[in-house]
Amino acid sequence: MNLNLADADNRVIINVGGIRHETYKATLKKIPATRLSRLTEALANYDPVLNEYFFDRHPGVFAQILNYYRSGKLHYPTDVCGPLFEEELEFWGLDSNQVEPCCWMTYTQHRDTQDVLAILDRLDLDTDKPTEEDIMKKFGLEEEYKSGELNCWQRIQPKIWALFDEPYSSTAAKVRQTHYSNGPSLLYL
Ligand SMILES: [Zn+2]
Repeated sequence: MNLNLADADNRVIINVGGIRHETYKATLKKIPATRLSRLTEALANYDPVLNEYFFDRHPGVFAQILNYYRSGKLHYPTDVCGPLFEEELEFWGLDSNQVEPCCWMTYTQHRDTQDVLAILDRLDLDTDKPTEEDIMKKFGLEEEYKSGELNCWQRIQPKIWALFDEPYSSTAAKVRQTHYSNGPSLLYL
């Protein structure tokens, strides 16, 4: 067998959402116990005529995922929402905790936003105006509030909540309310 044939033998084509990605089988083995490390021609995803695997998943995100196998480093794509990326990671059997430090802010920002939205969802907006301590309690920050150990983001969260609670209480709230229709962007104060 000459070198070119050996190379062809080691190559693999993965068609994700209509976009063909090509790599070496050895590259896919770099991260064990994942969907890609376990590809075999016995899978229904394998097309023997085209000699490729097909997955109907997000092709753009997959480029980043494949790059993780190539470089050993996992970065967040900047053009998709965090939860979408995490869903794709889960599908490919990858761990979002492996994300590189340069992308941690992106990762935690999405997490924090989701946490705030989840809390807002649970709030009963018909209750009487709560005290600052009540608000802290709702965010599970009672202990930190009492001992004065709140970090910056923890201090901001209840203020965001307060804006939702009393939308007409201040000019700032009115401004924020205007932005409310634009969705969660409001949360990046
Ligand atoms: Zn990064």
